[in-house]
Amino acid sequence: MTIESGTTLAGEHPSSADERSGFAEVDILWISEGMSCDGDTVSMTASGQPAVEDIIQGLVPGLPRVNLYNKVLSPTLGGEEFLAPFRAAARGESRNPFILVIEGSVPNQNIIEGDGYWTSFGNDEETGEPLPLNWWLDRLAPRAWAVVAAGTCAAYGGIHAMAGNPTGSMGLADYLGWDFKSQGALPVVNVPGCPIQPENFMETLTWVLYHAAGAAPPPPLDHMLRPQWLFGKTVHEGCDRAAYYEQGDFAKDYNSPKCQVKVGCWGPVVNCNVPKRGWMAGVGGCPNVGGVCIGCTMPGFPDAFMPFMDEPTGGSLSSILIRPYGAFIRRLRGLTNIAVNQEPRWRHNESALTSGYDPHWRP
Ligand code: SF4
Ligand code: SF4
Ligand code: SF4
Repeated sequence: MTIESGTTLAGEHPSSADERSGFAEVDILWISEGMSCDGDTVSMTASGQPAVEDIIQGLVPGLPRVNLYNKVLSPTLGGEEFLAPFRAAARGESRNPFILVIEGSVPNQNIIEGDGYWTSFGNDEETGEPLPLNWWLDRLAPRAWAVVAAGTCAAYGGIHAMAGNPTGSMGLADYLGWDFKSQGALPVVNVPGCPIQPENFMETLTWVLYHAAGAAPPPPLDHMLRPQWLFGKTVHEGCDRAAYYEQGDFAKDYNSPKCQVKVGCWGPVVNCNVPKRGWMAGVGGCPNVGGVCIGCTMPGFPDAFMPFMDEPTGGSLSSILIRPYGAFIRRLRGLTNIAVNQEPRWRHNESALTSGYDPHWRP
């Protein structure tokens, strides 16, 4: 369906936050003009629980009315019409409290001393010069009710911030300060992933919206400002192939259903729920479907995980240690597997009952 973003769709919204002393209407100002590929916007549209359409149309009970301004998802708004709510918010004249969503990393304008810009969003109304992302962040972040980083680039810098980059790119919290607090007293809410897993993002946004409605506490975040319930476990702990690892049974190439640690999987040390959750509608999830985990959700991504598809540092030691244990356990389990693959001998069609039944038994 087409999302009529930037307009309020539901005439009679099924919920109102007025009685709960929260907000009844919230704008989402989404800027993907960080150092970005727009992959997080594209990924977000695949979410089913909840779908962005459901939130915008007021179909999720208890949420405020939501107006989404996102350049890809606002097809009916163009040019100045699209920029209007951003300009108003930058002047402190937003008509509603707003959640600022940033996609892409923040380049360092200081290193070029105002001489040009790395990335921009709209033009200055007086001079016609492009307005750098940093200009918008300086004005919007302090006025935002919440600030959300969509994707690893916005959260920690990501691939634009790797060693040797010329832009000095960084994550939102690196730019605003790790002690930054929004108008809603929230730190930057990081939803890493390159791109974001669709439901991870929409679930977090929904929690923030419930909090804005006064219907939920702040989302619990870990020390890297990630939602704890999404990033508290490792890839390995949710991987379909984990039993192969435990049995020391490793794939030698990608054409194998076995554990991929020897061909580059970083899952044992990476915080991500994608193998458990799947990618779209529960299907997929990197190692589950043959893709090694390259740590794309992590603050150290990508440098700490390169070169991709080589055996991870430290992985060889743990896989050497588990190999004899795994081989022994695998052999024992193989024997037990043969035993339990046979039916008991008393299941036959002969004249004598041999099941051990005792007709004289009384309780
Ligand atoms: Fe693109 Fe990945 Fe950066 Fe998102 S995190 S903007 S998907 S490179
Ligand atoms: Fe762990 Fe990766 Fe092996 Fe899965 S494929 S069991 S995540 S090392
Ligand atoms: Fe990224 Fe690894 Fe999670 Fe896949 S499993 S999304 S590569 S962190």
